[in-house]
Amino acid sequence: MNFNLNFNNIAESYLFAEVDSRVAKYSAEHPDKQVLKLGIGDVTLPLAPEVIKALHSAVDEMSKKETFKGYGPYKGYEFLRKSISGYYKRLGVSLELDEIFVSDGAKSDLGNILDIFSEKNVVLVPDPVYPVYVDTNLMAGRKVIYSEATEANGFLPMPDYGVDCDIIYICSPNNPTGAAYDKAGLKKWVDYALAKNAVILYDAAYESFIEDNTLARSVYEVEGAEKCAIEFCSFSKTAGFTGTRCGYTVIPRAIEKEGVNANRTWFRRQATKFNGVPYIVQKGAAAVFTEQGQKQINENLAYYKANAKLIAECMDQLGIWYTGGKNSPYIWLKCPKGMGSWEFFDYLLENAQVVGTPGAGFGKNGEGYFRLTAFGSREVTEEAVKRIKKILSK
Ligand code: PLP
Repeated sequence: MNFNLNFNNIAESYLFAEVDSRVAKYSAEHPDKQVLKLGIGDVTLPLAPEVIKALHSAVDEMSKKETFKGYGPYKGYEFLRKSISGYYKRLGVSLELDEIFVSDGAKSDLGNILDIFSEKNVVLVPDPVYPVYVDTNLMAGRKVIYSEATEANGFLPMPDYGVDCDIIYICSPNNPTGAAYDKAGLKKWVDYALAKNAVILYDAAYESFIEDNTLARSVYEVEGAEKCAIEFCSFSKTAGFTGTRCGYTVIPRAIEKEGVNANRTWFRRQATKFNGVPYIVQKGAAAVFTEQGQKQINENLAYYKANAKLIAECMDQLGIWYTGGKNSPYIWLKCPKGMGSWEFFDYLLENAQVVGTPGAGFGKNGEGYFRLTAFGSREVTEEAVKRIKKILSK
């Protein structure tokens, strides 16, 4: 046998391991200090009561012969795909049910979708960004090129027609920068993709944090996207499903080239390699779209948004440049006093016992920047903000 040597081209995933090891070392040396963690992007609020109710009742269905479910449809149950299409309708986007594929989360599909594309494709990825896009392509041996996200463009790079590519990744609102494209900006990417005969892989995992109407919650709010964009979404950050696992991928029927259709090819791929998301979990996910479910998840989202506002206001008061904080659970700040990402990490840990994520871990353009998340509890967020203000306003 031979191993896939492309794995040798992937950087060791040391970011969160290194964060954990520095925090563990600090805590061992200072057992009396309370360390506040605003680093990792995981949620902290429990599932909404409406979701819990649906999960319980689905478990009961599984206990009775008449209502027991075995293998489900590869694309997901129609009740959930109908709820998802209803959600898109509210955004003014009309989707056929067979354009929606229920998944066990956005991360799996973001990686798996590459099965339907040639290894010869050139891939355009923003730097900095969620590392999954780069690593999944390097594993398959694809060439990855970068669009430069910097302070000068507000971490929202625009297309360069001098650059040719086949697969374009867009994450909006972005992890880690919190920056989000407005509809006009996205339209420029859609026009570029159509001109280059490229596909956009659009990661909308944080769409539910959008409040501003000029921003798109779905790429399909932009004309022409139905011909070139695949959208990935998730219940993880919207409804606290990080541990429950459910998401969905939208592949419009219109995406095709030389007689090959993306939707049909993906269905063929899924039918071979995927046996669906548990019925119980899909019932829980469908409850998110009920009137009560929407009310409850919006209360949770409002809680995180209020945390984001607290952190953003702190940066405003300190005169620190940042993106995100609004329309996003992330605050991406410029490290003060010219510090590097890891230097600021150590400074915050040692002086305020606050943990964030060094921007350098998300790409070379992340050096000198730092990510804080709004997914902590209110108490932790308030205390962290207080401590950051105290050490940085000196
Ligand atoms: N996409 C982005 C940009 C993310 O930040 C994350 C998780 O942090 C995911 C996708 C993964 O989402 P899921 O939990 O649905 O796999």
